[in-house]
Amino acid sequence: MANLPKTMQAAMFYGPYKLQIEEMPLPEVGPRDVLIQVEATLTCGTDVKKYRRGYPLQTPPYMLGHETAGIVARVGKDVNKSFPNRHFEEGMRVVTTNLAPCHQCYYCKIGMEYVCENMVFISGAYADYVLIPEQVARQNLLPIPENLSYEEAAVIEPLACVIHGIEESYIKPGDTVVINGAGPMGLLFIRLAKLQGARVIATDLSKARLEVASRMGADEVVEVTTDMDQVAEVRKRTENGRGADVAIEVTGLPDIWEKTIKMARKGGMINLFGGCASGTSITVDTGLLHYSSLTIKGVFSYNPRHVLQAMRMIERNDVDAKALISGRVPLADVESALKRILGQDGIKYSIIPSRSGLAV
Ligand SMILES: [Zn+2]
Ligand SMILES: [Zn+2]
Repeated sequence: MANLPKTMQAAMFYGPYKLQIEEMPLPEVGPRDVLIQVEATLTCGTDVKKYRRGYPLQTPPYMLGHETAGIVARVGKDVNKSFPNRHFEEGMRVVTTNLAPCHQCYYCKIGMEYVCENMVFISGAYADYVLIPEQVARQNLLPIPENLSYEEAAVIEPLACVIHGIEESYIKPGDTVVINGAGPMGLLFIRLAKLQGARVIATDLSKARLEVASRMGADEVVEVTTDMDQVAEVRKRTENGRGADVAIEVTGLPDIWEKTIKMARKGGMINLFGGCASGTSITVDTGLLHYSSLTIKGVFSYNPRHVLQAMRMIERNDVDAKALISGRVPLADVESALKRILGQDGIKYSIIPSRSGLAV
């Protein structure tokens, strides 16, 4: 067994705009846990949102970062006994997602594992090491295929969410789909909607992100400006102006949720995927909802099967994971990377701890 240091560096969140790099003890590895030495952790929209406004389900201080990949540094003594289909050993390249369900509760039993009542989360991966608790290790800790880098593999978590979102959008070949928001999730939606045979209209504030949207396959892009009638701009790009067959929201802004609903045709599907700040609400015209026979739904997160699907898609290069990564940043500068994304600069940054073998 390789020797491990006693302490590690990690980013600790104390409240909006307060993120500090601290020296802290290495997590204790229980008999069924796996400890990962982090090679790279990608920034995620959720981390950016937490950094800006906190998070209703968690009280600071806590650690951030969850799209992570690295090297197995320690395997709890009972791990390989209790995991019949997996074998972990030190030195293995692995990628994890941030959570895993229990498979015992009501929601797990009806196939909605993503709202599991006993969900277990990993702690935070803007750090030298991250502890993977048994429930996550058993399901969502996967070996990285040889042809993939750590950073490409780390895209499985957002991709799993988007695969779930696409599944729930019921896109048919030939459909026109509008995707509002071309951040990392929006870009993955664009690519997956294209794979479903859709014609995709993408909207965003950022020209740079819309350029990536075009590379991901968007047929038309709309650069949103403050004085623009965004709904009209989208509708006029649909057949006879009747609206999109499927309208997807990926910004997490109530105003855009409302606009997205107005972009759909009669009988259209509206997927409100971007989580908004807690306590916010939207208004829906009851006549529009009723007489246009709209279907409006909220979708988030993923089930373990979506993680496996995501891994296959990245491994086969159906999704260009590299296109989402705007650059590498040392762990010490994680805060500036989150600020750059808040300032619309970049899509995802790869956060590199000092022990990582990757060059910054
Ligand atoms: Zn994420
Ligand atoms: Zn459950």
